[in-house]
Amino acid sequence: MKISVVGTGYVGLVTGACFAETGIDVTCVDIDSDKIEKLKNGIIPIYEPGLDGLVNKNIKKGLLHFTTSLSESMEAAEVIFIAVGTPPDEDGSADLTHVLSVAREIGQYMKQYVVVVNKSTVPVGTGYKVRDVIKEELNKRNVDIPFDVVSNPEFLKEGNAIEDFLRPDRIVIGVESSQAEAIMRKLYKPFILNNHPIIFMDIVSAELTKYAANAMLATRISFMNEIANLCEFVGADINMIRKGIGSDPRIGNKFLYAGVGYGGSCFPKDVKALIKTSEEYGYDFKILKSVETVNNLQKEYIAHKVIKHFNNNLENKKIAIWGLSFKPNTDDMREAPSITIINILKKKGAHISVYDPVAMNECRKRIGDSVEYSNTMYDALKDADALVLVTEWNEFRLPDISKMKQLMRGNVIFDGRNIYEPAEFKENGFIYYGIGRKV
Ligand code: NAD
Repeated sequence: MKISVVGTGYVGLVTGACFAETGIDVTCVDIDSDKIEKLKNGIIPIYEPGLDGLVNKNIKKGLLHFTTSLSESMEAAEVIFIAVGTPPDEDGSADLTHVLSVAREIGQYMKQYVVVVNKSTVPVGTGYKVRDVIKEELNKRNVDIPFDVVSNPEFLKEGNAIEDFLRPDRIVIGVESSQAEAIMRKLYKPFILNNHPIIFMDIVSAELTKYAANAMLATRISFMNEIANLCEFVGADINMIRKGIGSDPRIGNKFLYAGVGYGGSCFPKDVKALIKTSEEYGYDFKILKSVETVNNLQKEYIAHKVIKHFNNNLENKKIAIWGLSFKPNTDDMREAPSITIINILKKKGAHISVYDPVAMNECRKRIGDSVEYSNTMYDALKDADALVLVTEWNEFRLPDISKMKQLMRGNVIFDGRNIYEPAEFKENGFIYYGIGRKV
């Protein structure tokens, strides 16, 4: 079986490599010629654990190819995945420019029946828009070639993307023809041998499923952050509450961590887009609006704690930041809380030193030389008045506290992910701030 995957970002490249791993002949397409050149030479432009090995192995096997030409990739392809970006438009709705331009090109070059699969996260009704654009192009060519459009939202998590794709909890497929359903079933058969379900539904429901999943997860985070903030008023401990409610199977113990707010390329934009879709259909999605407001405030929360601790005076203060990516195991800094925190502290006159295991280059691209880049987590602490832990990378979990004490000028730690034991730091002469912790 031959397929093509359009877009070689986090989703497209993982999708392509994982399908190649099952023996399918995959051509990955991107308009970014630099990216394609790198990939042809086995260089992976993003950081994702395990991806390098998987891509190179399948290039060598002759199962994974890269091109900038969509039409070339479509030769003999039975399925075309659209996995291009859908960034937020100025008004918060998903920008479909890339998705629809791929659809247009498919219509211009299609020669035989093909299943066009939307893997990008797209608002309700986009599947039909893709279908209409392809039809429009076929009409212009005066040809009548049958095709199907399918919605197959992706649920992988950056940092664990390969595992998530190869062993998914579930696969959701929105389909409206039995021919397309049979092809999708065949394609995904190797991934459901663990008996996890493949759920077929209509296209609109599949499109909304993806937004509902991300909106639910974002809601859990904002909810826990609000409970944590309340903990600080009443003197309760969020970690105890998390355990206390997480053992209820109706609630479950995952995704209940208070922190510095959610970021990344998905939750912020998908929450915004779902609010926008609701508005377009005349529905006021009240909970989600609050989820977004709470998150925006939470991203600033720890910076305000720092400012308050130093009595609103950060001139001549050096603040070290551990962790820049929006979560561990990725270099992705899209909408990362670290950016918000750094910007607030910089505005107040603080000198900032930063360290992240993989996102340093990404940070340079985003905020340039206005911060000090350190070679190690400990280098960042030299003469620092305070440390702010923003991303809970494993290497930050068990730091050498006496070394920290020696290196730092001050003795304050702001634990944005509640990964440290307050008592341990206090015993060593530190002042500890967490999120909703009893200290
Ligand atoms: P990305 O920005 O990392 O990659 C998108 C790629 O598409 C880029 O390489 C870009 O050059 C390419 N592209 C844009 N227009 C193109 C065109 N006309 N032809 C060929 N290539 C084109 O994006 P991503 O993070 O992989 O996300 C892709 C989609 O998947 C988005 O809709 C996103 O919401 C969704 N999604 C992302 C994740 C995630 O964790 N990143 C998870 C699930 C779903």
